Amino acid sequence: MRTITHWIGGRETAGDSDRRATVWNPATGQRQAQVVLGSKADVAAAVAAATSAFESWSQASLSARTRVLFRFRELVAAHLDDLAELITAEHGKVVSDAAGEVQRGLEVVEYACGIAELLKGEYSSEVSTGIDVVSVREPLGVTVGITPFNFPVMVPMWMHPVAIACGNTFVLKPSERDPSPSMLIAELYRRAGLPDGVFNVVQGDRECVDALLEHPDVAAVSFVGSTAIARQIHLKASANGKRVQALGGAKNHAVVLPDADLDFASGHISSAAFGSAGERCMAISAAVAVGDRADGLVEALADRATRVRVGPGTDPTSEMGPVVTRQAKERIVDLIGSGESAGARLRVDGRNHLVPGHEEGFFVGPTLIDHVDTGMAVYREEIFGPVLSVVRVDDIEAAIALINANPYGNGTAIFTSSGAAARRFRRGVQVGMVGVNVPVPVPVAYHSFGGWKDSLFGDRHVHGPEGVAFYTRAKVVTSRWPDRAAPRESVSYDFPTGGTA
Ligand code: NAD
Repeated sequence: MRTITHWIGGRETAGDSDRRATVWNPATGQRQAQVVLGSKADVAAAVAAATSAFESWSQASLSARTRVLFRFRELVAAHLDDLAELITAEHGKVVSDAAGEVQRGLEVVEYACGIAELLKGEYSSEVSTGIDVVSVREPLGVTVGITPFNFPVMVPMWMHPVAIACGNTFVLKPSERDPSPSMLIAELYRRAGLPDGVFNVVQGDRECVDALLEHPDVAAVSFVGSTAIARQIHLKASANGKRVQALGGAKNHAVVLPDADLDFASGHISSAAFGSAGERCMAISAAVAVGDRADGLVEALADRATRVRVGPGTDPTSEMGPVVTRQAKERIVDLIGSGESAGARLRVDGRNHLVPGHEEGFFVGPTLIDHVDTGMAVYREEIFGPVLSVVRVDDIEAAIALINANPYGNGTAIFTSSGAAARRFRRGVQVGMVGVNVPVPVPVAYHSFGGWKDSLFGDRHVHGPEGVAFYTRAKVVTSRWPDRAAPRESVSYDFPTGGTA
């Protein structure tokens, strides 16, 4: 069986641990590879390679760094289909969706290609007599990314292009469920001319993560994953003196006002709920039907849900693939059952969805549950599957209150034809990313991505200007060049001021 290894110091290595995890093919339910699970010693080797590479990479000129990133951008674009196929093989999402993920990741590389502009400092001339001040941002050192299974290329790309462009080195700990794409990314960086040790991949699980969080030479940690783990990572990394941003889970609501175009809203909500089998942190998992058009909305959503073409991600006619593991499927099926037992109405039931020829695959069909209330587990839990709940409320104020009472605050959307209602909504919701007639409002790379409340622990969002701020620290230089020929001012023992008016 194929073994997926680490990438440390510019080459593949199996490292020193004999622990392994199975990598499944979600569409067939078969084992397809094993991945090494790194030890403390493997982490130490990766951090040592990154520490040593930092000395020269942090001194490389902006032009040198930019050229590597441009070449990397071209290589990723040339290998977009290869990356998409690797994603589909291990994650299960359909190839066209996987290609979209790579494309959105590529946007971040393109943003990072502008690093010379992004790192321009600030200069103040003559802040006091003969004194100038310059503010610059310098890299941190060894930075770490710990990433989830659901976007094995895009989520790491929220981090490493910006970190590396800023002059840091990077150790990526991808999800053990779909580890292969990160190895191709490492190879593409090598071919782009990135010096050995600047980008490293350590495969593994909790043991590896703990070793990274405890390593004294790690300066900063970016994490994306479920809320329970994000909270722990934030606490532990902070306690160990590291800068940390930890993005967590989500429960995203789409509010449909009575004045919305129902056909438009139902189509977009269906896509946002069932695309990628609902395994997106920006997936819509609750439709909030406002007022008297709920029945019409439910009918339209049910019609859409029953027409989604479910099949293996490699089949170009499939619109939705399997979920990632057998355990994920079982958990989703149990949660659907819990909604039914709690009194919700199962309008479309995907629990027994069979895909001919793929009976062992981890498929769950699109599921629509109506009359869900906020006390039910199916509403409270992040299901992370193709399950859409419909909650009914009387007015927009009740919809906003419902969203704000939810512990998560990643994304949300409103469907309406009223600008005033949309404005009321965007100002009232306690959520980091808001869509107006846009169901999956993932910010483009030159803005930053991040949620509020239990969807993000830490101060900074990822990529965009917040990413550059996260991966750099400020240095402010105040300088004076005394003129030997000029008369000297007497030295004062008072606190220096900029002179009196
Ligand atoms: P996960 O939390 O299980 O795993 C994320 C990472 O943490 C993986 O690399 C995993 O190996 C590691 N990990 C798992 N358990 C750990 C532990 N006990 N200690 C230390 N490390 C551990 O998440 P997942 O199932 O891979 O991904 C799905 C989750 O990620 C969902 O909750 C989803 O909402 C979230 N997500 C959030 C965003 C966002 O931007 N907020 C984006 C994508 C995914």
